[in-house]
Amino acid sequence: MKIMSINAGSSSLKFSLFNMDTEAVIASGLFERIGIENSNYIIKYGNEKIEQQVEMPDHEAAVKILMEKLIDLNIINSLDEIEGIGHRVTAGGEKYHESVVIDDKVIDDLYELRDFAPLHNPPQATAIKAFRDVLPNTIMVAVFDTTFHSTMDKEQYLYATPYRWYKEYKVRKYGAHGTSHRYISEEISKIMGRNDLRAIICHIGNGGSITAVKDGKCIDTSMGFTPLSGIIMGTRSGDIDPSILPYIMEKEGLNIGEAIENLNKQSGLIGMSEKSSDMRDVIDGMNNGDEKCLLAFNKYCRAITNYIAQYYVLLGGADVICFTAGVGENSIPTRQKVCENLACLGVKIDLEKNNHPEQIQKISTDDSKIAIYIIPTNEELMIARDTLFLSKNS
Ligand code: ADP
Repeated sequence: MKIMSINAGSSSLKFSLFNMDTEAVIASGLFERIGIENSNYIIKYGNEKIEQQVEMPDHEAAVKILMEKLIDLNIINSLDEIEGIGHRVTAGGEKYHESVVIDDKVIDDLYELRDFAPLHNPPQATAIKAFRDVLPNTIMVAVFDTTFHSTMDKEQYLYATPYRWYKEYKVRKYGAHGTSHRYISEEISKIMGRNDLRAIICHIGNGGSITAVKDGKCIDTSMGFTPLSGIIMGTRSGDIDPSILPYIMEKEGLNIGEAIENLNKQSGLIGMSEKSSDMRDVIDGMNNGDEKCLLAFNKYCRAITNYIAQYYVLLGGADVICFTAGVGENSIPTRQKVCENLACLGVKIDLEKNNHPEQIQKISTDDSKIAIYIIPTNEELMIARDTLFLSKNS
């Protein structure tokens, strides 16, 4: 059974086609610069890869090319073989608590929820419409980045702002990266053979968030109303005092949009190091004696440690901490530093395993009070799993 998962942006479209009998990827690829000149695409399948520049004025053009190519390249024999398509959707607001089969109403809702993800929801809805036009009989599923966090209770998701802000305008914590956190939560339950885990999941990539999970359910997460809050990220500041905004706006003559852009795009690792948003460059700088890189690295690890400590208390202890995403899966010094910061909780990292991890690896020592794992995330597969489930059960 073949299921496709789609991650669309305003000018891009990523796809993965899975054989769900084995959960293996049959083909994957990226369409870029849709609606802009020099649009191009890459499709990978087996050991092959094709790349081409071709005019793609809109998402529908990209979808048509994708489907033609899948047939031309003998990846599928007919479009009917694709039994479902799952679409990543950024914001489900308070409306969606789980993945859903897409109908006209869902598409309207995605536009309606645009205030919560103005750069993401509208292009995602546009891409969904394009797929529905090209494949009108194929079941489509929306998988939201926020739904895993919908199990948080009020005490966690409300801000201590005027209650009216929540009641009238839905100002609250929604979180993000939920599909990744859910995938890791399910994987660690399988690996440890337990559904009753107190798990702290560290999704640290260019964006980053920490989630506290109890019995497979999210009880708190570090991102907030938007992905700007929480830990320090590649270019985002994470938590700051909002009073900085009017102050810096006046000093630098910025409007609110520009000031927020500074926090989203010029802060975090790049802001502090003045070198790079990429952890590899920051670590290189640190190893070559760059003081700002050292400070950025230490503060980045400290912010992660602080959230883990907070969630340790919230969960009443922790059975496991999982590292995932670009930094979590690949950065040996980051994992080491965070674990060393947690020594007072009885966390003990096995340096040998941390230095030479296998794909999925326990990197704590046997006498560590909390197990530490590296688990590569796979949001595309999680989307495909939901799509398969709903195609059979709806
Ligand atoms: P995104 O949030 O864009 O999905 P990823 O999860 O792909 O990001 O993570 C990308 C980030 O992972 C890079 O910006 C880089 O900081 C980090 N990264 C990737 N490989 C390494 C590595 N070997 N060592 C340290 N950091 C790495």
